[in-house]
Amino acid sequence: MKNIAVLTSGGDAPGMNNAIRAVVRSGLHHEMKTYGIYYGFEGLCENDIRELRRENVSRILSRGGTILGSARYPAFKELNVQKKAVANLREKGIDGLVLIGGDGTYRGAKDLADLGVRCIALPGTIDNDIASTDYSIGFFTALETAVSSIDKLRDTSFSHRRCSVVEIMGRHCGDLALYAGIAVGSEFIITPETGYDKQRTLDAVKQSYRDNKRHAVVVVTERILDIDVLAADIERHTGYETRATVLGHVQRGGSPVAFDRVLATEMAEYAVELLKKGANARAVGIRGMDIVDIDLDTALTMKKDVSKKRYGLVGRLVR
Ligand code: ATP
Repeated sequence: MKNIAVLTSGGDAPGMNNAIRAVVRSGLHHEMKTYGIYYGFEGLCENDIRELRRENVSRILSRGGTILGSARYPAFKELNVQKKAVANLREKGIDGLVLIGGDGTYRGAKDLADLGVRCIALPGTIDNDIASTDYSIGFFTALETAVSSIDKLRDTSFSHRRCSVVEIMGRHCGDLALYAGIAVGSEFIITPETGYDKQRTLDAVKQSYRDNKRHAVVVVTERILDIDVLAADIERHTGYETRATVLGHVQRGGSPVAFDRVLATEMAEYAVELLKKGANARAVGIRGMDIVDIDLDTALTMKKDVSKKRYGLVGRLVR
């Protein structure tokens, strides 16, 4: 393998830059020429592919976002568009690709692998919704952002004897809300895995008011319910003045925490080793303390393990 390339795709995540850097540095170590593909699959099809030298990835370890840019490019599902991408790679003699993104990116990687491009996918998403890994690159940074934001909300809730309803990202996966809820001692956590029971939520917050607590926090994964409506219901039924806050895209930014930096670096280095060994269509992940890889097809069909233990913790520690 002489030439390899790296792209970032889908929603950006802190730590993507660490992975890009490690692909380049590791590629150079193995005397490969390394390319960056700008703006995900869109840039791949538009031939926005540039060589990345050592200096191009200097001083990016602490930077959030992705220096390569990212894109949502639904047209990539079409075979004729994918063939254009393959032609662009062939023209530059690129025979291996590292793709960093979420499950949509994994699907694109699988299609490219079927067309003969060696592809290795890395989990890069704050949602932690990829079944083939315990943790994805960016999750712990987003968690830190969510926790520090809720800590601040709690300060002001405490002063005013308020309840805060906080919407957290995660799409179909409740991990961000679950971990953040545990970390801040939230009164109630609502995720796709717990489901939403309005009466139980109101009862829990009301009990907190009766216990004379000066503040309460309810954490909710996005897309489950309207938090303004829930805040109004809590205010009507519990005694707490209540405010709704959507944390939003701040969760996607910021300097990656040390764990994400290490995870991204190790996974990317592992991906380049896989390419060097001639592997194709693999998904890299972390299981326990180990970096592992599995077949991309399997990764795409796996169901994410919901940690019953961790949700059990919620039952005991969170009302
Ligand atoms: P995140 O979970 O953070 O949003 P993602 O990788 O799942 O990341 P998507 O927008 O779903 O984000 O997918 C990224 C890109 O992957 C899409 O914009 C599209 O170009 C490509 N893609 C998605 N689904 C497919 C598919 N079925 N076949 C080929 N390419 C796909």
